[in-house]
Amino acid sequence: MTNDIVDILDALIGVPTTHNHPVTGIASLLASRAEDAGAHVESIESSPGKQNVIARFGPKGTDGLVISGHMDVVPTDGQPWTSDPYALTERDGILYGRGTADMKGFIATITALLPQLPVADFKRELVLIWTHDEEIGCVGSGKLATAYTDPLPSQAWIGEPTGFLPCRMHPGHTTVSIRCTGRAAHSSKPGLGFNAIHVASRVVAQLETLASTWRSQNRFSEHLASPFTVMNIGQIHGGTAVNIVPDQCTIRVGLRPLPGDQAIERVAEITDCLNAVRQHARFGGGEIAIDVDQIAPALLTPSGTALERALCAHSPHSEATGVPFATDGGNFQEMGIASLVFGPGAIDVAHKADEHIDPKELVQCGRVAADLIHRFCVTSASDA
Ligand SMILES: [Zn+2]
Repeated sequence: MTNDIVDILDALIGVPTTHNHPVTGIASLLASRAEDAGAHVESIESSPGKQNVIARFGPKGTDGLVISGHMDVVPTDGQPWTSDPYALTERDGILYGRGTADMKGFIATITALLPQLPVADFKRELVLIWTHDEEIGCVGSGKLATAYTDPLPSQAWIGEPTGFLPCRMHPGHTTVSIRCTGRAAHSSKPGLGFNAIHVASRVVAQLETLASTWRSQNRFSEHLASPFTVMNIGQIHGGTAVNIVPDQCTIRVGLRPLPGDQAIERVAEITDCLNAVRQHARFGGGEIAIDVDQIAPALLTPSGTALERALCAHSPHSEATGVPFATDGGNFQEMGIASLVFGPGAIDVAHKADEHIDPKELVQCGRVAADLIHRFCVTSASDA
């Protein structure tokens, strides 16, 4: 079992599936492994080189189980890796490589299990959903939420690295771009221009005030370390030369609306808080434009589901809590699927140099998966 997992993980890690590369190489590998194990597989292309893989085992219906993970990884640029991040490397019994924890280790574990599945005995459906471009805003699952209409099982297990902590909620993530426009001029005659960076600085001040208002509106404090809508002013880009009055400055802001909040309402608050700055900009011949680049919905699965009970049986924790990061679960919720996030590895090593996982955790994850598939797909409905 361990060897199978490591062999598959080695193949997955070897393909750098960052957002600027195709995911096709590992999508076709995972599709053919699932087909070999008896699945009906759909590889649904969202754009050239980008597809979601949906592998369906057993009789169709809404009672079974979805198991899901994302095939993409975050880039390694500028990170001080000890070994090649795209070559699975073992040191002192630990596996290193981009995606070992987040979350190719999980995908390899489930794929290694497939040949042993008693598919002929399935009474309810098992569906594997491997998505693309989760890391840039849950893009692949967002495509499914708008375009995939076949009924799916109503519960999903998403194997993000939580160190086997079951989680039933997380904030969403929304990216907003605020483009400030001014009027260019030679810097020796500033009166002929209108400085877009000055406008942007007023925007930042207003956003900071709004963010502190949001920080005082706490909910879910028993489940989330930051129990409010987090705002991160993450990027600012403006001007072309030190002797030109800049006519452009763009600020990119990331929001993490809490479960139950509508992202678009938070964006409306941003628009409202910038009214005075907009008036000021227009008076000077400038403008402020606000664009929503991406929305990944929050997740809130009710407590006490059958999947929560099944996962807690494999965890030192007796009930599910929250994670601070967004997952595909928000989009699955839009599709009527209640998701739990639970998996091997630590989120603290993900996205960093020398990302790693202990293969013993992958073996443990394989045992959890075998038990869950048996409970949800093989035993009779009344036993589940
Ligand atoms: Zn992830």
